[in-house]
This record gives sequence, structure tokens and C-alpha cells, in this order.
Amino acid sequence: MYKIPLNSQGWKKERPVVVILSGAGLSAESGIPTYRDPQSNWKTTNAFDAEEAKRNPQLFLRETNERIREWKDAKPNAAHSAIADFTRRLRDRASILHITQNIDALSEDAGDTSVFHLHGSILKSRCQHCGAHFPRLAPYSLEDVCPACGKSDGAVRPDIVLFGDVPYGMDWIPGVIRQADIFIAVGTSLLVYPAAWFVVEAMEHGCLDRILITKDLPDELFTDPGHIDLDEADSLFEYTKFFRGSAARILPQVLEGIAWEIESR
Ligand code: NAD
Repeated sequence: MYKIPLNSQGWKKERPVVVILSGAGLSAESGIPTYRDPQSNWKTTNAFDAEEAKRNPQLFLRETNERIREWKDAKPNAAHSAIADFTRRLRDRASILHITQNIDALSEDAGDTSVFHLHGSILKSRCQHCGAHFPRLAPYSLEDVCPACGKSDGAVRPDIVLFGDVPYGMDWIPGVIRQADIFIAVGTSLLVYPAAWFVVEAMEHGCLDRILITKDLPDELFTDPGHIDLDEADSLFEYTKFFRGSAARILPQVLEGIAWEIESR
């Protein structure tokens, strides 16, 4: 267990609000490559770009089917299970929200009841015609028929947010972020918006306990002005506890330490 002294005097309410933001690094040790991983095929295709998916829906469906096939044997790792256990254990003592950028279903497989998919989920389908959401119809094809409105010809698509689409939950997530007393970012490069902005927003709204667990931070974060403002980055990294390494190894220890602190108040 990593004992992390928390600033509990500064918590906004008696019952702390804990936000966990996860990215592709959470599932890396389950065998799903991250976006930036040299082995990943995310960057060799533009099938997941919203405009391109409109122009070439067949490619989008084919690439999604390919991901579903590649990921079908992946199992949750110790980091997914640690979030599920933490949520169960602190159910009566803290408000916990896990926002994931991942579209895989490993958090659900681990029994995590606090997870919200910012970028949608391969577990679900959506009808572009009537907007209905329903369980996944995979493998996807242009001939799939929407069970709600009966439309086909490309109406049914995987319920995932593409580059250029608006992420889910943006009408209520910022409100929760501003209430956060403890913010844990795990396995995310902080290069993809709005997730990267959540960390800064939590900091600016007085979240004193901020923890970042990741294997590495890309150089672009500090050199490319399109990312976090450098003044913000300075204070973000100066006062954020940074653990560099494996999510499956570090996150269970960090969450154990936080659970212990919250329970011993
Ligand atoms: P990213 O690829 O940009 O960054 C991943 C981060 O995780 C990096 O900082 C890396 O150093 C770190 N990392 C890698 N292995 C790790 C490990 N074992 N333990 C801890 N950290 C580790 O991913 P992102 O920030 O999530 O953004 C990419 C986008 O691509 C997201 O929107 C996501 O939806 C999508 N994506 C999803 C999946 C998935 O569903 N599993 C996989 C790949 C990409």
C-alpha cells in the first residue's frame, strides 16, 4: 500500500468526491495496445475520424469489427479490478466517478460500477437515424437493421465517439470535476481533449489531492502549445503526485492507501 497523506481538511464536503480518469494505458497490460503504442494500428487508419467515417462507413465498420476480434480474449488486469474493489469498498464513504476514455469493456468485466465511457463503448450500438442505443450488433455490416426504427443501409453503427465527435457526458461531467476532492489520472497521455482539460479544471477548482500514474508523458505535452498551457503544466506537475510506471502494479497500491485514509478519518 502507498500511504498518501490526503488534504482532508480542504475537502469540500464531508463525503469526498473521487474522480478517476483513465486512458488506454489502463488496458495496456490486458494486451490492448494504447493509441500511441508503436504496435497499435490506430494511427495507421483514419477510419475513426468522424468525417472519414461518413465518407467511408464500410472502412469504419470493418476496422471496428477488427478491434472487437482482436480484443475478444482480453481480460481485466489488476488496475481494472482495483477500481472495482475501491468503488465497492467505499460505497458508503465517498462519491466515486470513473471516467474512461477507453471503448473496451474491461472495466465492466471487472465489475466496476462507477465507470462512465466518455468515448462510448464497443458494447453498444447506436442508430444514426432515430438515435436509439442498444446492445452491440457485431460483426457490424451496412445491412444491419435498427431494432427501434427498422432503418438499415448504414443506419446502425458502433456507439463510439470518433475524432471530431463530441464526447458523451459533457453536460454534467465538468460539474462533477469541479467538486472533486481527489483526482486520479491513470494511463492517459493527457494529449486528448477534453480529458486533459479535466485535470486542469479540477486543479483550478481547488482539488488538492491529484495523482497521476502513467508509464510516460509524451514530449509534445511540454513543447506543443496546442496542449496544456505551460504555466498550468508547471503548477500541475509541481503539486501533483506523479507515479511513473505500470498501472496494474501502482494503481492497486495507491487506491489501497486512499481507501485506508478515507476509512480512518
Ligand atoms: P494514449 O495512447 O494517448 O496514452 C496512453 C498513456 O498510457 C501513455 O501516457 C502511456 O505512457 C501510458 N501507459 C502505457 N502503458 C501503460 C501501463 N501499463 N501503465 C500505465 N500507463 C501506461 O491514450 P489516451 O490518453 O487514452 O488517448 C487515446 C485515445 O485512443 C482515447 O481517446 C481512447 O479512447 C482511444 N483508445 C482506446 C483504447 C481502449 O479502449 N483500450 C485503446 C487505444 C486507444
